[in-house]
Amino acid sequence: MTSTTAALLQKYSIPGPRYTSYPTAPYFHTQFAEADWTEALGAASADRGISLYVHIPFCDSLCYYCGCNMVATRDYRKTQPYLATLDQEMARTAQRVDSRRVVRQLHWGGGTPTYLNPDDIRRLMAMMRSHFTLAADAEISCEVDPRELTRAHLAALRECGFNRLSFGVQDMDPDVQQAVNRIQSEALIRQVLDWSRELGFSSINLDLIVGLPRQTVERFSRTLERIVEWAPDRLAVFGYAHVPWMKKHQNLIKESELPDPAARLGLQQAVNASLGAAGYVNIGLDHFARPEDELVRAQQNKTLWRNFQGYTTHKDCDILAFGASSISQTADVYMQNEKSLKSYQERVAATGFAVERGLKLTRDDRIQREAITRVMCDLELDFATFGSEWGIAFSDYFADALTDLRPLADDGLVEIDRGKISVTPTGRLFLRNIGMCFDRYLRQAPGEQPRYSRTA
Ligand code: SF4
Repeated sequence: MTSTTAALLQKYSIPGPRYTSYPTAPYFHTQFAEADWTEALGAASADRGISLYVHIPFCDSLCYYCGCNMVATRDYRKTQPYLATLDQEMARTAQRVDSRRVVRQLHWGGGTPTYLNPDDIRRLMAMMRSHFTLAADAEISCEVDPRELTRAHLAALRECGFNRLSFGVQDMDPDVQQAVNRIQSEALIRQVLDWSRELGFSSINLDLIVGLPRQTVERFSRTLERIVEWAPDRLAVFGYAHVPWMKKHQNLIKESELPDPAARLGLQQAVNASLGAAGYVNIGLDHFARPEDELVRAQQNKTLWRNFQGYTTHKDCDILAFGASSISQTADVYMQNEKSLKSYQERVAATGFAVERGLKLTRDDRIQREAITRVMCDLELDFATFGSEWGIAFSDYFADALTDLRPLADDGLVEIDRGKISVTPTGRLFLRNIGMCFDRYLRQAPGEQPRYSRTA
């Protein structure tokens, strides 16, 4: 990393959204009710694709850095009423959705979906197939915790049609693993990767985290060496967001052991250098993929999109999400379910839905979302093309954004020339900051804004 890049990372390390939605989740409100959601479900045309998401909140133990909605429990019985509730919720939702619509993508996240035993994995997938029609070539993926996993879990997933897996690796250093209460050996990871390949999963993603306690560049470089050796198809390298005011258990992490900003920059640099040298392409933010991966191709063809699962090639799908805290998305609506297991189960038992809050986007929200997403996915934005798609005079509509982008252009993060914004190679590290220039909600008085994690 040049000293200039390091200085820029320091300068632009400010709290900001990750833009997996726009407006961001803190703006969802509780006036959005079940009737709003059922209306949105019925509004989509028969040819609009569906992306299904199921949230399995259970985990065997608590990782101290966890930012997810989860319940650590050894009591497997809790899964049974939860699965029954998912079945009810899916049945009720499917009644409102045009039955000709086809599922193009399906994802299980958590928590730990593989907390479910192999029989319940089969049972849940059978439920999903009974309520929805899956395309023969649907992308079917599952988040996997390598600990407590058996070959039988993976075989059940494969048998159910899963073709992609995403493993939480985070950091292989024993000291770091101990500091975050997530112990998993190299032999274990190697074993689950071998099983996955033997069983014929076509795409494997590994998640890493930078910014964990006791991480140093030297130690993390050893993790990166292993990762490169294991040769996943994709990698997501998240920056740890220390938000103990929101996630109380993060207080179990000693702040004195967290890498300071300079060390964090070094870690980021080690990631970019190692993965770059191994031939991975940085799609943007924290995502890397092999050059032949469809995410890279979608970026080249300008069909890449962002949603709650990060980067996706399925822009034209509505996300129908099931389970506690899950977030659904149609063309102009976001809806989040009740977060606690108890309220989720009670609400579904009563009405079949568990709407806690949501948002109907205005036309302005949609225009701004498109601009933020285009710049974060395509890494460029053409004023005339965008203006004619939305019937706006781009430079007038986004006058504030263009003013805010000026200092970023002076710092070499973007180029604004001939009616076009282009993100520079250095600017790829600052996509959140670039997106923030188009975010009208950030123009509100600071007291009215939610608290976000830092951008770098
Ligand atoms: S396994 Fe995942 S969801 Fe569960 S506690 Fe650890 S990080 Fe959180």
